[in-house]
Amino acid sequence: MAKRSRQAQVTRFAPSPTGYLHVGHVFSAFTAYHARGKGGTFHVRIEDIDQARCKDKYIDAILEDLNWLGLDWETPVRKQSRHMLDYDKALKKLDFKDLLYPCFCSRSDIMAEIERSGHAPHGPGGPVYPETCKKLSNTTRDCFIGKGKAHVQRLNTKAALAITGPLEWYEINQGLVKANPAQFGDVVLARRESRTSYHLAVAVDDHLQGVTIVNRGADLALSTDVHRLLQALLGFPSPSYDHHRLVKDVNGQRLAKRDQSLTVRSLRDRGWSPIEVINMSGFAKSF
Ligand code: GLU
Repeated sequence: MAKRSRQAQVTRFAPSPTGYLHVGHVFSAFTAYHARGKGGTFHVRIEDIDQARCKDKYIDAILEDLNWLGLDWETPVRKQSRHMLDYDKALKKLDFKDLLYPCFCSRSDIMAEIERSGHAPHGPGGPVYPETCKKLSNTTRDCFIGKGKAHVQRLNTKAALAITGPLEWYEINQGLVKANPAQFGDVVLARRESRTSYHLAVAVDDHLQGVTIVNRGADLALSTDVHRLLQALLGFPSPSYDHHRLVKDVNGQRLAKRDQSLTVRSLRDRGWSPIEVINMSGFAKSF
């Protein structure tokens, strides 16, 4: 195999097709494209496991906008919804280690349990799951599953950390960062509607695509705590991370897909050129 030059990296831009790209995505995509270095590889990955929110028309528009901006990427583009078997394989590996349990709680069951117990540890994403279903016997679990009761699969995070011990990841520009997956409690790894979750699919895909640097917005830095744990459990090497600043609007608010005015589409329609859109994202100023 040809030896990679020192700076050659494998990077990716991984949008969810729930809307049009905005200038924040442009910054992220160009950061990842630039980070691949000379002779490196850049992937565009479509994160469409949430089939209720993702639309084909956005996939087409995202690829078309990226092409218009002048980016090129490895083909074929990986669409997560077509790779459910890969996520299933990872789930089975975790199940084999006895690290998963089915959870039958609805959102209101969880809130009621938190209220009843009188205390609710809070994680970055809100109250932490009170582990109600972890206490169920195997007989009850089998009975519920036999009756077709809807459920998700949760990670037994304490048991997982007992296997891995303390973890850290390498943050470019910062150095080693301690991972704290325990703060999220027993996260969902397989949802009711799809046999995976954002966390599981990202950890598996970054590994299968050989990603060496993950460039993404600072808002996703917290997810890395969980991704790092999954990598350790699944025997995947950990990429380096660059959680970059978020592009804000004139009011200092971070951009969202619902803000139509700063989508690449609308800027194109208003006659902006690719370089004007790239400059607006602030990308050039960062290098
Ligand atoms: N699909 C995620 C998003 O569009 C990004 C995930 C990632 O980069 O890990 O926000």
